[in-house]
Amino acid sequence: MKIFKDPEKMRDWARKMLLAKRKVALVPTMGYLHDGHISLVDRAKAKGADEIVVSIFVNPVQFGPNEDYEKYPRNEKADLAKCRAAGVSAVFLPSAQSMYHADRSAFVDEGTLSKGLCGAKRPGHFRGVCTVVAKLFNIVQPDFAVFGEKDFQQAAVIKRMVRDLNFGVKIVLSPIVREKSGLAMSSRNTYLSAEEKQKALTLSRVLFSVREGEIKTPASVAAKLKKAGLVVDYVECVDSETLAPLKRFKPLSRVLVAVYDGKTRLIDNVEVKNLKQNKEKK
Ligand code: AMP
Repeated sequence: MKIFKDPEKMRDWARKMLLAKRKVALVPTMGYLHDGHISLVDRAKAKGADEIVVSIFVNPVQFGPNEDYEKYPRNEKADLAKCRAAGVSAVFLPSAQSMYHADRSAFVDEGTLSKGLCGAKRPGHFRGVCTVVAKLFNIVQPDFAVFGEKDFQQAAVIKRMVRDLNFGVKIVLSPIVREKSGLAMSSRNTYLSAEEKQKALTLSRVLFSVREGEIKTPASVAAKLKKAGLVVDYVECVDSETLAPLKRFKPLSRVLVAVYDGKTRLIDNVEVKNLKQNKEKK
């Protein structure tokens, strides 16, 4: 497995792969890898990638001034071992200095899908995400890139960026991987105390009820989360493609939630199947 820290060396290797007509897939991550990340690698394999590049970069420009950039968990050695075991061809591990000039002045901004939900709560976040993903696409020039539905809004924003800026990269989405308890896997779960982890279980439980059509409005989701001691950042139901807000849950819409569990911000989402409402309508 190749390990590149220098963006130019990463680019040289990727160009060689391109010229050799190898199908290259990129899996962008911030590291502290778990089975959710590895499922994206597996998805890349299943989609026919000849070479899989995993980027591991805690991107400073997508964190707000009071967010967890400094304390974001990092474990290079364990990450490399997991990538090796998963059959990754190359890991791109750039430093912040090698990715960003101190006087940088060009950014990528998406103007619609990134404005609500996490974008409203984390100003500048998606500008940071779009900028780093555009840079990674330019460096690696993959045939396709795999993103997790765990960050549903991020995936929609990236798809729009790719469409509107003519990136020649296909975007593949992969489902959320959960702990047995239902909790969506996240590098940030490591912040949770045992008690907070217990509280966090309500998040997936409530979303599963939404999925099955047992809970029908954002307000009742919020009430259940609050009752469990979680602080609701937002609960919204949106159209899966446009992310336009919907008042009531309907089949194939997406319900997205962000909560604070103590100091830790957790996000999760589900697609609404709404079985009960469907039955009622029949
Ligand atoms: P992160 O390292 O948290 O920035 O995530 C990197 C990529 O992994 C993103 O595309 C995420 O959506 C995806 N990801 C993170 N957690 C999960 C999960 N539990 N299941 C599936 N994909 C995930």
